[in-house]
Amino acid sequence: MNQNCINNWSLDDSAELYGVHNWGMGLFGLDERGDLTVQIPANNDAITTKDTPAVSLMEIVKGIELRGHDMPVLLRIQNFLDTRIALLHNTFRSAIKQGDYHGNYLGVFPVKVNQQCQVIEEITRFGAPFNHGLEAGSKAELLLALAHIKNDGLLILNGYKDSEFIDLGLWATKLGHRCFFVIESPAELDLLIERSIKLDIQPNIGARIKVSAKVSGLWTETSGDRSSFGLNSSQLLAMTNTLREHQMLHCLQLLHCHLGSQIPCIEDINTGVREACRYYTSLLSEGAAMQYLDLGGGLAVDYSGVCSGAEHSRNYSLKEYCQAIVDQIRTIIDPLNIPHPHIITESGRATVAYASMLLFDILDVMKFDAVTLPQQLDSDTPNVLQQQFALYQDKDLSVVRRYQQAQVYREQVRQNFESGHLTLQQRALGEEIFLATAQDIIAQQNTSSSHEVPAELEGLRDCLTDIYYGNFSVFQSLPDTWAIGQRYPIAPLHRHLEAPSRDAIISDLTCDCDGQLDQFIVKGKESKTLPLHPIKADETYYLGVFLIGAYQETLGDIHNLFGDTHVISVRINPDGGFDILKEISGDSIGDVLGYVQHQSQALIESIRNKAEGAVRENVITIQERQKILDSFSATLNGYTYYKQK
Ligand code: PLP
Repeated sequence: MNQNCINNWSLDDSAELYGVHNWGMGLFGLDERGDLTVQIPANNDAITTKDTPAVSLMEIVKGIELRGHDMPVLLRIQNFLDTRIALLHNTFRSAIKQGDYHGNYLGVFPVKVNQQCQVIEEITRFGAPFNHGLEAGSKAELLLALAHIKNDGLLILNGYKDSEFIDLGLWATKLGHRCFFVIESPAELDLLIERSIKLDIQPNIGARIKVSAKVSGLWTETSGDRSSFGLNSSQLLAMTNTLREHQMLHCLQLLHCHLGSQIPCIEDINTGVREACRYYTSLLSEGAAMQYLDLGGGLAVDYSGVCSGAEHSRNYSLKEYCQAIVDQIRTIIDPLNIPHPHIITESGRATVAYASMLLFDILDVMKFDAVTLPQQLDSDTPNVLQQQFALYQDKDLSVVRRYQQAQVYREQVRQNFESGHLTLQQRALGEEIFLATAQDIIAQQNTSSSHEVPAELEGLRDCLTDIYYGNFSVFQSLPDTWAIGQRYPIAPLHRHLEAPSRDAIISDLTCDCDGQLDQFIVKGKESKTLPLHPIKADETYYLGVFLIGAYQETLGDIHNLFGDTHVISVRINPDGGFDILKEISGDSIGDVLGYVQHQSQALIESIRNKAEGAVRENVITIQERQKILDSFSATLNGYTYYKQK
């Protein structure tokens, strides 16, 4: 569709193209100005946003820029965190009521998914009425969890624990927190017993098991016999024996399993829950005081919006997830006539993904459009170019044959240039003829009766795709797109009343071929290009990458020394306005240089010495020396990203 601008374009067309209503879950929409909007649900029982006001993301961007912050910005919509926690609890409560289930639901947020202070503060503040707890997998996470946990929220301690970690957990227990030590390896148990005797504090203990049921998706290795975490059945049995010997079997109250993150298929969840329940009932038979079944994370986010069992989606709703868990537990537990366990889930991704989005501007576009070619070439034009040109004019050849031959000629042109037989001008002409031929082949294919694109034309469109240069770093802000091929919804923040007439990939600011976004979901299907609008000379073009609240913020790194982006936190008001609650400045260049042990003062000193030397040698004036030092200091204190003005 590269150059065919579609007329009669509507908001519905745009919503369908970018999947806004599918991945957006009613939290994102489009308004009559053609802007992408955010909207809070009317109530927390269901995502119904019908009558609630929508706020344009362009209005928010304007507000951010007026406050002096340049793009890129990580925007957090605080209401979305609140909404997700309430929705999780309310949906579980409904499933429990409907299923006549006698245990409670206890939600826990795994700190590793987003450790940012503001996120943890909001989760614990808003989660307090629900007793929403925290899961910590390291000493650092435990420290912050302990400081933030409120009311009767659970504190689940996962990960490998040394004596410092254990002691802190025991003191938290003594302080009155409902703290569970989840035993991941046999060695850990001995240390826990030793420390609890020493401090004379009785621990609440959980056992993490390796479930043999394997899940599909990107995190299949988290489950199955070879997963790195959890106890196998022999180790679990040994654990109960050890606890019995120490008269501590009553401390074992919780069974933990984590099947994997982003589990796309409900069938895998059903199988995993049933297996976990068998372990739970077995531990009861062994004499443990079991009360809690912790099913870990895994509740998936529908990034692609297609609601299927594919990797970036899920084939179930939140309601179906909660019902499935309640039903599966009952299937195993009820025939045994034992009390229903309290259900714990450690949903991370599904809690925080929606709240954060990366907003950035497009700095430039590289187009691969062919220029208009002459009617004929000069008679002294080298042979290879003449042949290439004849192919361009030969419209009777099949598309496949024409494309294959065009590639052969392009290669010959490049080789001839390398060996000195073609000039730069002649090579440029060869490249133009290739592009014109490729464009012509696409037009030929578009008008053909067959809609099937022959496999041999693979890569044809790619060579004509625009490159949009975005003001962000993949490695800093979207590391999972690079590391594991995670797809996120990406869409323009505005111009949704216009047909996007360009096919593009998006390149970031790093000088790295991996710093690109080149896998998209378009109309619910995988695509190597994203339709975008042509940029205008007098208007900045803004894009957003959505649902990035989980894992991205701390996994990111400072490749090419692009640092943390600014973080702006916004609360949407019921009157359709918004408040900017927090403005956290991103890293300055001095900050990121400090991370790699270049101290700002030493750098200034070094440039000062150089400038002084240049003054001494009459290379620069004293005034110029000052300008150089001012420019150096200003850059050192500035943002690591591209400044438009
Ligand atoms: N609990 C544990 C033990 C985990 O390892 C993880 C993540 O891998 C989670 C919870 C969070 O999973 P999710 O983000 O899929 O909810």
